[in-house]
Parts: sequence; structure tokens; C-alpha cells
Amino acid sequence: MTSQRTRNRLIKRITDLGIKNQEVLRVMSLVPRHLFMDAALASRSYENTSLPIGYGQTISQPYIVARMTELLLAGDDNQLGNVLEVGTGSGYQAAVLGGLVKSLDTVERILPLHRNAQTLLYDLGYRNIYSHYADGTWGWEKRAPYDAIIVTAAPDKIPSSLIEQLKVGGRMVIPVGKNNADQVLQLVIRTSENDHTVENHESVVFVPFLQKTN
Ligand code: SAH
Repeated sequence: MTSQRTRNRLIKRITDLGIKNQEVLRVMSLVPRHLFMDAALASRSYENTSLPIGYGQTISQPYIVARMTELLLAGDDNQLGNVLEVGTGSGYQAAVLGGLVKSLDTVERILPLHRNAQTLLYDLGYRNIYSHYADGTWGWEKRAPYDAIIVTAAPDKIPSSLIEQLKVGGRMVIPVGKNNADQVLQLVIRTSENDHTVENHESVVFVPFLQKTN
């Protein structure tokens, strides 16, 4: 159920859906997704589906994780330096990125999710992932600017502080939209100090991007 063969079937599935980046596929074939969710759901962990992780949140669908990672890397020949993730959740997307980039900061607004992910990522041996308990509306100023930013919850509109924390030439992948019905995955490229472009990609379903309440 959690074997390499099961994992490889998932990789075949997302390849069939159009993921081309071999590095993304290679890293995803190695990350044990079943450890990032409740044991009761582990039997479904290599299906191409999002699943609940508690606190009203979900671990993203593997195809979407792959697609967002591919879009993030596309500009830079798989060689990203420092990256920011907003919405650690289970830590699965962070683990995938941890295998691909030099260093990753990841922020989460729900304390137990932050703690679980931080412990799990450490236990799995990642030493280039820095987990923070914070409201990602403000990015993570201390280590900005970033080569790339990935946001895994959907705001109504792109928070301007995130664009400001991108290097010129940097890329951000973010789902944007008011509710489940009209969210779209956007690729933002900061083209100069004062300008950026926005490219629309596929429709997606993400939990809402919220500000920290406590
Ligand atoms: N990348 C995650 C997806 C988790 S779902 C994974 O691989 O499992 C999105 C997460 O974003 C949730 O855990 C939610 O609490 C978090 N989130 C939503 N708004 C946020 C904000 N403003 N700052 C930080 N985290 C946020």
C-alpha cells in the first residue's frame, strides 16, 4: 500500500496528465506522501486526490503539487536558490520542494499543523526547510527577496507584500479567486522593481487564504 510500486503508479498517472519535468517526477517518486496524513487515510495517499489533514485543511492533489512545482521551476532550469511557501499544511509540498531547491522557508497560520510538519520534515532528514508559524500575508521578510514563491491557499487577490518579496525575475505560483468555483492558478513574474506580469493557468480548488486569528 505504501510501497515504491504504488508510488510509481501515481507518478505514471501524473505523467499521463501532462507533467513533463523529470526532476519533479523523480523527487515526487521519493517523497512518502502517506506519512503526511492521518494513518486512517494512508491507504488513499497515492491516489491523485486531495485529502483532509484536520483543522478544515487539505493536502493538495499530487497532480497540482507537480504542476505548481513545474511552473515554479520552469524559468530557471531546475536551479532555484531560496524559495518561500505560504501554507505549509501537511508539509508535503515543502518536502517536494526541499528535494529541489537550495533553501525553503515555509509559513503556516495554524499552530498544530506548523508543529507537525516541522517535526516530520526534520525526522525525514530535511535540513534545508525552515518552518515558521506566521501569517503568510506578510511573506517572510527576514529572508526576502526570494527566487520563487509558492502559495498553496487561495486569496481573492495577490497580496502585494508577496510580490515585493520576489527578486526581479523571480516567479510566484498562486491560486487566486473568491471561492471554489472560480479559482485560477496564476504565474506571476516580477519583471522589474515596479512591474510584474500575470499568466493564467488551469482552474483549481484550494482552501481560502486567511489571516492568522490568534
Ligand atoms: N502545501 C500544503 C497545502 C495545505 S492547505 C500541503 O502540501 O499539505 C493550505 C494551508 O494554507 C492550510 O494549512 C492553511 O492553514 C494555510 N494558510 C491559509 N492562509 C494562510 C496564511 N495567511 N498564512 C499562512 N498559512 C495560511
